[in-house]
Amino acid sequence: MESMKIPLLDLQRQYKQLKDELEPVMLETLASGGYIQGPRVMHLEQSLCDYLGVRHAVTVGNGTDALVIVLKAMGIGAGDEVITTPFTFFATAESIAAVGAVPVFCDVCEDTFNLDPEKLEEKITKKTKAIMPVHIFGQPADMAEIDAVAKKYGLRVIEDACQAIGAEYKGEKIGTLGDAACFSFFPTKNLGCFGDGGLITTNDDDLAIICRAMREHGSGKNGALAAKAMGQSVELLDVEQGDLLYNPYKYFNYLIGCNSRLDAVQAAVLNVKLSYLDSWNKKRAEHAEYYTKALIGSAYRTPTVFEDRKHCFHQYALRTDHKDALADFLAENGIASGAFYPVPLHLQKVFEGPGYQKGAFPVAEKICAQTVCLPIFPELTEEEQDYIIDILKKFKG
Ligand SMILES: *Cc1c(COP(=O)(O)O)cnc(C)c1O
Repeated sequence: MESMKIPLLDLQRQYKQLKDELEPVMLETLASGGYIQGPRVMHLEQSLCDYLGVRHAVTVGNGTDALVIVLKAMGIGAGDEVITTPFTFFATAESIAAVGAVPVFCDVCEDTFNLDPEKLEEKITKKTKAIMPVHIFGQPADMAEIDAVAKKYGLRVIEDACQAIGAEYKGEKIGTLGDAACFSFFPTKNLGCFGDGGLITTNDDDLAIICRAMREHGSGKNGALAAKAMGQSVELLDVEQGDLLYNPYKYFNYLIGCNSRLDAVQAAVLNVKLSYLDSWNKKRAEHAEYYTKALIGSAYRTPTVFEDRKHCFHQYALRTDHKDALADFLAENGIASGAFYPVPLHLQKVFEGPGYQKGAFPVAEKICAQTVCLPIFPELTEEEQDYIIDILKKFKG
């Protein structure tokens, strides 16, 4: 087979396909003079509610802010603990630490790479306020079991769904299975915009209004409504949130929030791209099946798929006992791969602390030492996949 050069992800291919649809809506937005909030953002939030089957969709500046805002809106901060997984992107635990709470790690399951519900209870203390499962690589976590533990101890559940838009668990969309969920529209995610973007979803009316207020300095009518939801006595003016420039509410602030809004241009892009998400996720699943079938009988361990879940394959992680050697061999043959995640979070310098030594979370550590993520983006061709499979079969650990 002739040698090829294959990136882990090629965003230009998708751009070329959608160029004629995307460029006019971006230019229209620029010409409109409305760059923050406005009709494109409102339209996107409604479409996301419909797509996910959730009552509230609150867009924000990025996925990390989404996590931070939800934690703050739940009143989680100094002195509190939040249980999460060490096998995730840094931002998951960073958000918990950023609000002054302590991320308490819990080991993961070998087949899902997600929080092990059987190990959750032993991590719960009087300080525990919430559990933050991550649907890593697009594989849904064991939400029924996690929700049951949360219910038993009166804890909130925040889904880090940044890698899992479009994934499903027992017939329901990821992002509707806890008290709130957070998504990212970073360009490399399954639904990405042309910069940073994020989303909070919830069925909790009060939580939604507090998040809406927080993304905008706790100001305006949303700020007043949020303060009311938080039990403060506030007088509501007889006007709508409406136009930010001329709104009498604008310079009244009711709580300490931040500035984290999705730009109108990004919303315009996402309004177009959202209609393609299911077809892209379907392509990813087909590519995954193609790899898995081709590697039956090999020494590689392929991702587990479950009948009651729809994995959206943000990443296709192969497991091998020769991680670095395989990555090198693929690179020598022109194939890019991802090492997600080389270091589990409990071994990151900033989270150093009692109990967080090597060996503390053996499953997460083992997975970190084994995973090699292959190209799985929707536009990947069959010819490219055949080449990758051919090289994988030539590898002699
Ligand atoms: C990408 C990601 C985030 C952060 O999202 P940003 O939009 O980059 O801030 C958080 N958690 C996980 C699991 C992610 O993959």
